[in-house]
Order: sequence, then C-alpha cells, then structure tokens
Amino acid sequence: MTISVAIVGTGPSGFYAAQALLEKGIDCRIDLIDTLPTPFGLIRGGVAPDHQHTKRVIRTYEEIAAQPTVNFYGNVEAGRDISILELRAFYDAVVLAIGMPMDRGLDLIGGAKKGVYGAAEFVGWYNGHPAYRHLDPLLDDKCVAVIGNGNVALDIGRVLCKTKDEMAKTDIPDYAIEAIQGSPASDIYIFGRRGPAEAKFTNVELREIGQLADCAPMVDPEEIPDEIPGEMSDRDRRLRMRNIETFRSFAAMDPTGKRKRLHFCFRSMPAEILGKERVEGLRLQSTVIENGEAVGTGRYYDIPCGTVIAAIGYRMGPLQGVPLDIRRGIVINNDGRVASGLYVVGWARRGPTGVISSNKPDGDAVAAHIAVDITRPERPGRAGFEEHLQARGVRWVTFEDWKFIDEAEVAAAQEGAPRKKFVDVEAMIGLIEKGRADGTS
Ligand code: NAP
Repeated sequence: MTISVAIVGTGPSGFYAAQALLEKGIDCRIDLIDTLPTPFGLIRGGVAPDHQHTKRVIRTYEEIAAQPTVNFYGNVEAGRDISILELRAFYDAVVLAIGMPMDRGLDLIGGAKKGVYGAAEFVGWYNGHPAYRHLDPLLDDKCVAVIGNGNVALDIGRVLCKTKDEMAKTDIPDYAIEAIQGSPASDIYIFGRRGPAEAKFTNVELREIGQLADCAPMVDPEEIPDEIPGEMSDRDRRLRMRNIETFRSFAAMDPTGKRKRLHFCFRSMPAEILGKERVEGLRLQSTVIENGEAVGTGRYYDIPCGTVIAAIGYRMGPLQGVPLDIRRGIVINNDGRVASGLYVVGWARRGPTGVISSNKPDGDAVAAHIAVDITRPERPGRAGFEEHLQARGVRWVTFEDWKFIDEAEVAAAQEGAPRKKFVDVEAMIGLIEKGRADGTS
C-alpha cells in the first residue's frame, strides 16, 4: 500500500527527509518540490562558491533523486502555484523543508539606506541565485562593514578578499567576480557584538583566513584573552580556545605587502547606519561581556564605509497554512509534527543553526513519525498534483530537465571552474524547451 509524500524544498533537509523515508523502507512515492528549476537549496545558493568540497554532498542527493519512486518538480512555488492546504489534500504526508530564506532585518536607524544588505541577498547575489542576481550591490568604497561573527560573515569576508586567481576554480558568476575584483574595497571589517571567545566561527573556516594570497587578517592583540572565563563543557572550551589561538596567530602576522585587510573587531554593537541616502559609515557602541551577553557601555565610535552587510541570521517568511512561532521564527512543531499529515525538518523546524549533516536527525525523526501516523494511502498523490499543475498552467521541471541544465553549465565552465551557472529562470526554461524541441534533452 504505497503512500504519497510531498517534500517542499530540496535543500539538505529535504533530501535527508527523502533518504530517511527510503532507508526506513516505507512504501511510498516521494515528490520533491522546489521554487527554483534547480535542486539542492543552500548547497547551490548558500554554500560559498569557493567551498566546492562542501558541495560534493550533491552526489548523495543525486542518488536519492534517481530512485524510481522519487520525482522532482522544480519551478513550482508552494504558496503561489499550489497552497499548503491543497498539497495536504493531494498527499498523505507533506514535509516542509523550506529553510529560512529571508534575512533577519538589521533593526537600526538608517537601516534602509542604499548600500545596506542582508546576507541572504548578498550571498544569493554572489552565488547566482535568480532572485538576487540583479542586486548589483554598492562596492565603490575602500571599506565594507560586515556585521555578525558567524560562518556566513566569514564567507562574505573571504569572498570579498580572495584574488581572481583564488576564485578561478569556483562557480561564482562573472558579474559577481567582476564587481568584486573591480571594487576598490581593500578593508573589510567584521564586527562582533561579543568577544573572540564568543565568536561562532568554526575553526577550520577561521584558519582559512590566515592563508589568503593577498589579504592580511587584522586583530588587536589586546582583544585576545589568555583564558576563557565562565562555565562550559570541556569540548566547548577546547573549541573556543582553538579560535583564540588562531586569532593570536593572526595578530602575529605581518600585513605588509598585502593588498587587502580583513579586520576582526570585537565588542562592537551596531548602533546606527550613517549617511544621507546611502551608507557613509557605521556607528558602533562598545560593549562589555556580562554573563556571556554583550552589554552596551554607552561609548560609541564611527567607522567610515560605503557598504554594510548584516550576517546576523535568517528567518522564515509567512506561508499560508503553516503556523509560525513568531518569537523563535520557526514553524510550530512537536519533534517535527506540525498537524495531521504535516511535518517540518531543517532550519524551519529548529532555527538557522548547524552544519549540513545536522539536518539528518530531523529527517530520521519525521520518517519515524510518518511510519507510525500514516498506515494506508488515502489521497491521490502525484496524479492529482500533476493535474493541478497542468490546470494552473505551471511548467514544472523534472530531474532529467535539471540534468540537462547541469550538463550545459558544466560544458560552459571555463578551465578549472566546475560550472558556469545559469542565473536566470527564463534562460533555464528556454534551454529545456529548446532541448525538447530539437530532441537533445
Ligand atoms: P550564526 O552562526 O548564528 O551567527 C550569527 C551572528 O550574528 C552571531 O555572531 C550573532 O551574535 C550575530 N548577531 C545576531 N543578531 C545580531 C545583532 N542584532 N547585532 C549584531 N550581531 C548580531 O549564523 P550564520 O553565520 O548566519 O550561520 C548560520 C548557520 O550556518 C551556522 O550554524 C553556521 O555555522 C552555518 N554555516 C556553516 C558554514 C560552514 O561550515 N562553512 C558556512 C556558512 C554557514 P551573538 O553570538 O552575540 O548572538
């Protein structure tokens, strides 16, 4: 008795949910649905273009998509082409793997000025995400300020500081590499409201900053503590200590001769974006750390800059038929269960934290719930869904269509680069149509 499962979102959490259903041996047909014609969510659109090793996980996802019981429906937007309520009427189980596509806004005076960007849009821009490819960020000043002390801030800083040669083996779009390499930005500031011991950078990623070809990491040695105060597990202390040692090695480096500098500035809480219509500077309030939290001291300082990028976390957008915990910014759920036949995995379930494999347990939990909750098929599944899409005139993209795009991207890559991404939905659909018309796809 085959049940029908729809998974909305094809990033890591969506694929791990599908993998868990398959591994558990649940008799089901799985339909993976994505707004974009391209699968893999943040692996394609979020993981930095120079971190191709991280993107290799796609091979596992391709194996999942190739299973005979699994279909991909790209270019189908839940909430626009089909509502969540409609999906629930077609499928025995609907799994939301919708991530957190929006920036947590920088709630500051001047936050709406030209030249202020959120990480979701800035990272989307340099990763060729169709929604952000026209962002055309202002990068016309010597200084860029990045707010936040997480790995996303580090990604942004690194991509802005690498040389053209260092980016040659990446899939960064031409428009982004030209804008970055043509920019006068030579001093990138990363601001953390707490100290180096509280920064959320993972150590491998932090150490990478010390190996850049033409960029010096800059840290005030006075900012680096000898010890880490407070209660914490041994593991946590060890991990934090590694970052402290890395910062200490940065402070000892000689920046002479490097064209760019990446400045780590701690205990600095953003207070106001300065300037008339566009960003001209950032005002920061110095902080002290009390009980692990940043507390403003009432002392302010300004830094002139032409761009501010807030990498301070993500949030969900509203989606009709999905209950949101406004305070935590996640889908209200009980261990992944949302309502009868409705489940959630990934960031939408637990918030924007963790690495790619952190999504696996979410998939396992939801597959276990589905095995218990849904014992027989009651809904039309794929046939009803496709009928609905046809009636709405939605031109969906299959996994074979995606492979056709994939092959074209790989074929168009410059030497050494993994692919030249399509950054435009219409161009992708046009390519598929042409392939179908001339029999090549
Ligand atoms: P994150 O690790 O949670 O870091 C967010 C940063 O923003 C923190 O430093 C936080 O400071 C700061 N922040 C939040 N609100 C702020 C405010 N109002 N003013 C100033 N600072 C503020 O999040 P992320 O960098 O977006 O990364 C999301 C997840 O993806 C993380 O788990 C990350 O490790 C993962 N990721 C991994 C990689 C990789 O492995 N290479 C790459 C990218 C992302 P406080 O700590 O003081 O709150």
